This record gives sequence, C-alpha cells and structure tokens, in this order.
Amino acid sequence: MIFNSFINKVWLSSPTMHGEELKYVQEAYNTNWMSTVGENINTIEALIADYVGCNYAVALSAGTASLHLCAKLAGEKLYGIPKAGTGALSGRRVFCSDVTFSATVNPMVYEGAEIVFIDSEYDTWNMDPVALEKAFEIYPDTRLVVLVNLYGVPGKIDEIKAICKKHNALLIEDAAESLGATYKGVQTGCFGDYNAISFNGNKIITGSSGGMFLTNSKEDAEKVRKWSTQSRENAPWYQHEEVGYNYRMSNVIAGIVRGQIPYLNEHIAQKKAIYERYKEGFKGLPVSMNPFDSANSEPNYWLSCLIIDKDAMCRQVRSSSDALYISEAGKSCPTEILNVLAEHNAEGRPIWKPMHSQPIYRMNDFITVSGSGRGRTNAYIAGDFSDAATDIFTRGLCLPSDNKMTADEQDAIIEMIRSCFE
Ligand SMILES: *Cc1c(COP(=O)(O)O)cnc(C)c1O
Repeated sequence: MIFNSFINKVWLSSPTMHGEELKYVQEAYNTNWMSTVGENINTIEALIADYVGCNYAVALSAGTASLHLCAKLAGEKLYGIPKAGTGALSGRRVFCSDVTFSATVNPMVYEGAEIVFIDSEYDTWNMDPVALEKAFEIYPDTRLVVLVNLYGVPGKIDEIKAICKKHNALLIEDAAESLGATYKGVQTGCFGDYNAISFNGNKIITGSSGGMFLTNSKEDAEKVRKWSTQSRENAPWYQHEEVGYNYRMSNVIAGIVRGQIPYLNEHIAQKKAIYERYKEGFKGLPVSMNPFDSANSEPNYWLSCLIIDKDAMCRQVRSSSDALYISEAGKSCPTEILNVLAEHNAEGRPIWKPMHSQPIYRMNDFITVSGSGRGRTNAYIAGDFSDAATDIFTRGLCLPSDNKMTADEQDAIIEMIRSCFE
C-alpha cells in the first residue's frame, strides 16, 4: 500500500502554545523581573501545589534538578550530612525503576548511589512490587526507592508504598511524565516522601524547560529553595554553610508555564482522545495499547504506546546503535513500524531502553520476580531468566502522540501500522 508522506512532520510530543504564555513573559520583561524572582514563579508554585494537592511546590530549572535535590534530601535524612566532596548517597544502594528515562537515575548517581534496577510488571509497565519485595530480600539494608509513572500511567503506588513502609525505606516519586494523572482519585506528584515534576519541552505542559519539587514538608521545601539559589545564608554578604546549586527557575520560563497551566486539562483530554482513537483503530490487529489499571487510575495519556503480541513479532535484532528486521506476512515489529512512520515524516520512538541494559549501568544488579539478574548471561543461556522490561522494550513502541496531530493524520498513521501486518 502506498501512503503520502506528511507535509508537516507529525511529532511524538511537541510543545503546544496558546498565546497567554507571551503575555506573562512580556509582563516579566516590562516589569524587569527577568531573573529567578517574580510574580510568575510565585503564581505557578501556588497553582501547581493547588492542582496536585500538596502543601509546597518549588520551581526549579529542570525536573532533573528536582530529582537531584530529592536524592540529596533523602540521603541526608537517612545517612546524615555527607563529608565535603562526597554525595549524600555515597556507597548506598537505591532501588530504581528499570524502564525509564535516564534522568530518573542519573541524579541518584550524582549523590554517589549504587543503583539496583527493578523489573517492570505488565499491568502498568511500571515497577513490579513483587520484584521490589524480592530486592529487599536480597538487599535488606536498602532505604530508598525511586518510582516512575511511565508515559503518564500511575504505577502500583499503594503496593510500592506498603513495601517501602515495611522495610523502613523512603520513596522518591518521579512524576515528570505524569502531571495530571490520578491514582485512586489523588493526583500523582506527591505520593513519595520527595517528588519531582518536569516542564521540559515534550511534557504534557511546558515552560520550554523547568521542573518542580513537590512536598508536604515545609522544612524540605525551604531547604530545596535555599539549595537551589546557591545556599546563601541570611547575612549582608555571601555567607555559606552548605554546598549550593544554581537550580532556581527563571521568572521568564515561569511565565510560559503560567500560560500553559490553564490548558493542562485540555492537553490531557486531547491526549486521551489520541489514545482512544489508536485503540479503536488497532481493533483486529495483534497489538494492544500501553495498559493502565482502569479501576484505580486515570493516566494523563502523555504518550500512546503499543505492544505487539508475542506470536505476531517478525524477527528483529538490535545492536547498541542499529536495528534490523525481516519482514513477514501477518507479522511486524517495532523497527518495521518505526521505519514506516519515519519514511512518511511521522515520529515514533522505541520504548525507553531498560536501564539495566545501558552500557553505563551494565555492572549494576537488576532484580526480577525470579531474583537477581547478576550473572544473567548464564541464566539467559540456561533459559531460566526472563524480564518484563526487555520484553516490553522488544515488542513495544511509542506512537506519534502530539496534541496538534489531526484526526486525519492519525487515521493515516493507523493505516500505515495496519499495512505493516499485511
Ligand atoms: C523528562 C523526564 C525527566 C527529566 O526532566 P527534565 O525537566 O527534562 O530535567 C525525569 N524523569 C522522567 C521520567 C522524564 O520523562
């Protein structure tokens, strides 16, 4: 089947502007509040705290910066103030979701943590509580867990929290992708002891960049605010008792976020319509959409993904930088679908590659329901070790999920994908 290429590229998820952003940026300019103080910052901190339902929100330069300060807070709470020049998690083990963007993990490493990756489950593609419990059996002295709500789908939050409580561990919630998603009627972004969201360009709303630290603790909010502005003490001169960071959000960026916040629910509704249109359009194909627990959660539908049934996968191999496949009647694979989309000027993306299989983390342990993945090469050969993370990466992909994609464009994408299975 021949399809026309899109004249305008259909993006995975690009910024969607509305006009009011400029008004608040202009206001910052006109009043000369062009630095890291101002009305836009104050307003968005109040609006987001109110929306998520937490007591405090601290606007930062990025979600990554927020996760870094989450790591530092957790480390100091658990292990005390570190010696100068060492991280707050130095030499300490941290359990972390395996299928995620690297910015979940890296900030823990900035603070010196040794990461152990936890496999995913198939109900929400997030951290598997059974594997997490297994990890505590193997490493009972671990005191910190980092949970991601992947692609805007809440994980098994109650189960994870109960396990953390049982083992006296703290929880960091990385809600960078899930702003606006709810779990048991409660907004994500404040389930952890420390929580982060992001306003990166591809997220559900954006400041072009930016992030926030969310908490119910006044003390933690104050610490983050102080750390993020170079840890200045209250004195007439620059006085410092602690290491500081330049992590505060600019009032200009905050103006963009301020213009976006009124459209958050609209963006979610658009993303939901995209997800449902795909779901309907794929009827009869051997694929399913990225799953969620419909009884307990409502995602923000940030990215629509699909996963191909095992017996409908054609052969596909991936090296560290390339992918090959052999086309087969009635079957397909993510590589074929992504190639077809790219050929027609539409952007899909593989599932976030599991962290345990990233070269930088190749020596780190990886825990599945069947135990430790250390020495997994031998286990693979023996055929007694499999993990959900690799399986989802192998069979899944992220679909074009841009708010501005038209119904016609999406229908064409659906037809292109259908043709891959012919
Ligand atoms: C985007 C993202 C981050 C990082 O946020 P930035 O604002 O880009 O620094 C962290 N974790 C996850 C899961 C993300 O998707």
